[in-house]
Amino acid sequence: MIEGGCLCGAVRYALSKPALRTCLCHCEDCRKASGAHAVAWTFFHTGALEWTKGIPKMIRFAERERSFCGDCGTPLMFFDPAIPHLFEVSTCSLDEPDRFPPEDQCWLVDALGWSGAVHALPRYDETSPLPE
Ligand SMILES: [Zn+2]
Ligand SMILES: [Zn+2]
Repeated sequence: MIEGGCLCGAVRYALSKPALRTCLCHCEDCRKASGAHAVAWTFFHTGALEWTKGIPKMIRFAERERSFCGDCGTPLMFFDPAIPHLFEVSTCSLDEPDRFPPEDQCWLVDALGWSGAVHALPRYDETSPLPE
């Protein structure tokens, strides 16, 4: 069983089928919906998901459904009715996201200009220097 949930713990879910594929999405909609420069997603077959605690909020934008915690805002799920046999869970809402590393990057047509250079930035194990 694969499990996950939101930051505040109000919404939890479980997946009864294996992950099919992973990706790191740079599309503008994912960026806006998350506030992050890219979003890691893990694909499952429709029907694999059970909400085990709480009920997420859902918005329909650009004819696609995005579920998120109504209390803390964590993005949880993406569903495109044009691809009804699949849905995506936000990899970083999974309890063990390191088990699902992205296999590719998609929607690079929308990627921010600096997103390809982040690996070369100075690195800190914890917080970086703060401005005065
Ligand atoms: Zn929450
Ligand atoms: Zn996207």
